[in-house]
Amino acid sequence: RNPPPTLYQPELWSDHFNDFICKCLIKDFELRPNVLDLLQHVFIRQIVGRERILQKQLMELIDLNQQIGTTGKTRYRHDLQRPHIALLDDLVTLEVLDEQLQRRYAKDQIYTYVGDILIAVNPFHKMELYSPQYTKMYIGAKRTANPPHIFAVADIAYQSMVSYNADQCIVISGESGAGKTESAHLLVEQLTVLGKANNRSLQEKILLVNNLVEAFGNACTAINDNSSRFGKYLEMKFTCGGTVVGAQISEYLLEKSRVVHQATGEKNFHIFYYIYAGLAERKKLAHYKLSDSKTPKYLLNEHIKLGPDIVNNTFYKEQFDAVEQCFKVIGFTLEVHTLYVYSTLAAILNSGDIEFASVASEHQTDKSNISNIAVLENAASLLCIRPDELQEALTSHCVVARGETIVRPNTVEKATEVRDAMGKALYGRLFSWIVNRINTLLRPDTHLGEDDKGLNIGILDIFGFENFKRNSFEQLCINIANEQIQFYFNQHIFAWEQDEYLNEDVDARVIEYEDNRPLLDLFLQKPMGMLSLLDEESRFPQATDQTLVEKFEDNLKSKNFWRPKRVDLGFGIHHYAGKVIYNAAGFLSKNRDTLPADIVLLLRSSENQLIRKLVTHPLTKTGKHTCVLCVQGDTGTGETTHHPRESTNMRTQTVASYFRYSLMDLLSKMVAGQPHFVRCIKPNNDRQASKFDREKVLVQLRYTGVLETAKIRRQGYSHRILYTNFVNRYYILAFHAHKEPEASPETCAAILEKTKLENWVLGKTKVFLKYYHVETLNLMVRQT
Ligand code: ATP
Ligand code: MG
Repeated sequence: RNPPPTLYQPELWSDHFNDFICKCLIKDFELRPNVLDLLQHVFIRQIVGRERILQKQLMELIDLNQQIGTTGKTRYRHDLQRPHIALLDDLVTLEVLDEQLQRRYAKDQIYTYVGDILIAVNPFHKMELYSPQYTKMYIGAKRTANPPHIFAVADIAYQSMVSYNADQCIVISGESGAGKTESAHLLVEQLTVLGKANNRSLQEKILLVNNLVEAFGNACTAINDNSSRFGKYLEMKFTCGGTVVGAQISEYLLEKSRVVHQATGEKNFHIFYYIYAGLAERKKLAHYKLSDSKTPKYLLNEHIKLGPDIVNNTFYKEQFDAVEQCFKVIGFTLEVHTLYVYSTLAAILNSGDIEFASVASEHQTDKSNISNIAVLENAASLLCIRPDELQEALTSHCVVARGETIVRPNTVEKATEVRDAMGKALYGRLFSWIVNRINTLLRPDTHLGEDDKGLNIGILDIFGFENFKRNSFEQLCINIANEQIQFYFNQHIFAWEQDEYLNEDVDARVIEYEDNRPLLDLFLQKPMGMLSLLDEESRFPQATDQTLVEKFEDNLKSKNFWRPKRVDLGFGIHHYAGKVIYNAAGFLSKNRDTLPADIVLLLRSSENQLIRKLVTHPLTKTGKHTCVLCVQGDTGTGETTHHPRESTNMRTQTVASYFRYSLMDLLSKMVAGQPHFVRCIKPNNDRQASKFDREKVLVQLRYTGVLETAKIRRQGYSHRILYTNFVNRYYILAFHAHKEPEASPETCAAILEKTKLENWVLGKTKVFLKYYHVETLNLMVRQT
């Protein structure tokens, strides 16, 4: 009803049309349809010649406006990259989400808001969106003042942390290859700037931590060349004043099986290729008992002919230098990383080349022998243990019968299994050790004052939902983790929000959403959930993968579980994100993940400090990293010191129970902070830029609940602030007195009325605000 006065000054239009329209749009971003009508009538008739092109853009704008109806809440934004095109930034008002995402994507606008959730569509090409200019633009800015951006999420989390003195948690989700890890990097970058890391070296360290951890935890998969094979929760630590003082990482569920086996077209963890090429470049392969003419088997996936290419690969060499640089900057000493880390990696590679041959014995049981003793000696020398003892531990095992310890030979198959178990365990432990070292080096204690407990912003980058041609135990764990995150998202967005309306007597419409609780029960319930059944079966020495699936079939009564016909060992799960057929082959051994006690003992005798440490000490107080190599008691908090040859009753923690533990651990961390969500969307399966597969996008939008979220965000109040906190923070907007007024509903109302905001509600104890209110309020506070 009140168009901006400049609209009536046509003399301004033709000279500076572009500038003018953008200014109008920015200033009056809630353009009402009648304003657009006016624009349409007046402009279109006047614009001629070179302005025709602008006319087209205006038409596009008007066209967009008509599509979205007359909500009055439509936001148009002047796009920084393309100043001539204004597009819809916040899709909370849209029903046809995917179509609008596609339009935006075509214009390289990869970010879009759905309420306060950021949708990031993977551009699959380098974007000029992250320069210092952008960094600056998003600091402390009102969200609607700039196009949607990942930096804006960092800013909101940071501002909320400082304003409310509360921890924050940014949850990044999406399927494999959707862009979670890239988004996490960008968030960390922006947060280090926001956190005014006054100490440049700390800032640099925090930025490098990600790279280092990813060199060890990421790998090339069929879907993503840099796929995270572990879940990562990075907590950035700040003082209460908002200065960044450190960082801590928690890692979840490293896919250790990749060390010894990779699926078709996939590779081992990056670090192995980096070190192999890097050491070759420095002519140090021989020192680590490696040879450039004989590629280690663990790197030689039979399906890709990588062999000689590895040592010549310049990218790998550069990455090796980068890893060394990370080690150095973060504070690893030269001795620690070269001597210990490299030799452990080289030991793993060498042990992978140990070969076994079958020897017939008197009792008909197959014995095995090592057919390449030189390789065994290499591995033993890198592990700093005696080769004969390693040979014995690989080719035989002890059983205790009637109080007597009997040494039994291992078959070739069994010996190979033990060898691989050792490689996996060493790698898993090495990874945890590196993460722990990083945590020690970046621990903030020394930087915080006495009374400053500090605040943190956690960033969760966890492996995306996976559905391959062949899905095994690893995919099951990954998908359960995603199921849990989705549940948390639902709880936060739907369930808790609605509970709060009820408790506070606030009238809001109930939104229906797809609750995935039945799925979580199917997996996690005790004693009849899938993981419990798996653990139970893992305890029977006679059990097989076949008996396991039969057990699932007999006990799991859920419409989300079925046994497909004609698929041996197959079972299907209807996940929130779609149907997946799993193959149970190897489930039991993967779950038991046992490393024979003989190997543990042998490694404990190593002269290499790191190897000894890896198998001797629990790495954390909680003992969560101790499961791999240690013989543990029931609680999983410490290791027993029994000599395995004396103990008949050893229990090892299974992967499933450890997994359950880590999931709960992760959840408890997340629940403690105020969440922010980033939903990464993969626009196509071919990693192609500018290709938007609508069907694919729609599926992702649907299963992640983005559409329902849009609905609830339109109707709901995403910020619920206690009266006390609200008054404490915002009273200066309405009261000049230095003394804080009483935290009553009346005071809150007075403040809100003064700010001229609309659509807020007062509950019994809290002020209910729309997401955009908070931005405005914070900006106003900063300007006073
Ligand atoms: P996974 O679950 O397998 O770890 P992910 O979701 O972490 O997958 P990323 O590794 O972050 O996926 O992204 C995959 C690839 O997509 C990147 O290597 C990069 O090439 C591209 N990509 C993602 N985000 C961006 C971006 N913002 N700009 C440019 N390229 C991007
Ligand atoms: Mg990733």
